[in-house]
Amino acid sequence: MKKEKIWLSPPHMGGNELKYIQNAFDTNWISQYGSNIDEFEKSLENYLGNSSYVTALSSGTAAIHLALRLLNVEEGDFVICQSFTFVATANPILYLKAIPVFVDSESLTWNMCPDMLEEAIKYVIQQGKKPKAIITVSLYGMPFKVEEILNISRKYEIPIIEDSAEALGSKYKGQLCGTFGDLSIISFNGNKIITTAGGGILISRNAAAKKRTLFLATQAKDDAEFYSHSEIGYNYRMDNIAAGIGRGQLETLEKKIEQRRKNHDFYQQAVKNNNDIELFSAPNSDFYSNYWLNTVILKNDFLKENLKEKFSQNNIETRFLWKPMHLQPLYKGYKFFGDNLSGTLFDTGLCLPSGTNLTDDYRARISNVLQNEIY
Ligand SMILES: *Cc1c(COP(=O)(O)O)cnc(C)c1O
Repeated sequence: MKKEKIWLSPPHMGGNELKYIQNAFDTNWISQYGSNIDEFEKSLENYLGNSSYVTALSSGTAAIHLALRLLNVEEGDFVICQSFTFVATANPILYLKAIPVFVDSESLTWNMCPDMLEEAIKYVIQQGKKPKAIITVSLYGMPFKVEEILNISRKYEIPIIEDSAEALGSKYKGQLCGTFGDLSIISFNGNKIITTAGGGILISRNAAAKKRTLFLATQAKDDAEFYSHSEIGYNYRMDNIAAGIGRGQLETLEKKIEQRRKNHDFYQQAVKNNNDIELFSAPNSDFYSNYWLNTVILKNDFLKENLKEKFSQNNIETRFLWKPMHLQPLYKGYKFFGDNLSGTLFDTGLCLPSGTNLTDDYRARISNVLQNEIY
């Protein structure tokens, strides 16, 4: 009999989601308005602190798109973006016909390299323009080098859009990811640490920015008695059913972070005697990762070719790391600053099952592959 599939990062319901959905049905707020949306936003604002203003949206991608709009990014503007990421980080730059400039990762956090960032900024300034924004990512839940990057952002007065899609609950020096950017985003896609099936938030730092976010997310209706529109808006608001799922999920966030971090401890044990496999871990205690996904670097060509297949034979899902944007056909021809460290990570890395419902039984199956079946 085929063993049950172990997924990479499946949804994991907390318990109260249906109660909040039932409430939406009972009150007939089957809509992009309703108390689930209001309460979900309030709870997230309380959780994030640091004067965070949260707008619930239909996806993390929509949140990045609106962040660029809030910073007045227009056709022909330059936006600097981490290359090593999921394509959703970069695509909104193209939605606006702006020009992405990609920056490589450094080896400690796998996120944006401060030195290459500065090179990229100087290049854009040489073109006679100043970059309109810098999009940083905390990939796989690992915070980026926050201090170095924020210092560069301040030095050149270029705002940061912080893509924390994968990093809800992660911290740098005790401060939560999602609170560092001039604008920050988090995703609640089905594979993320908590989910609303599909959804995301834009986090801004003042009430005026939140008001503008809502305006753009709901078709940019002018303040008039009839339907009057002076600029382009979108239908990007989260709905009251999704927000109900979000409320139930958020109640279990602390537990989910703990569970993901325990998965990391498990992998540390499982690979500690194998010199061919290096588990990606926080470089020091300043970096607190939610370990959304556990990733390994394979230092042996045989494993590079075969490990994924071995897992697959055991009905265990693994995935390659994100393929950097500068290597994507879609982004061929855009400038890239770096030595292709992210390309090397892509060539040698693998994501391992990291769900919050990784049972002892599942762990035993994964250990067995790692310890007995790979060579
Ligand atoms: C998931 C993800 C996004 C996009 O979020 P959606 O809610 O799926 O639109 C953006 N950036 C990163 C790094 C992601 O992992």
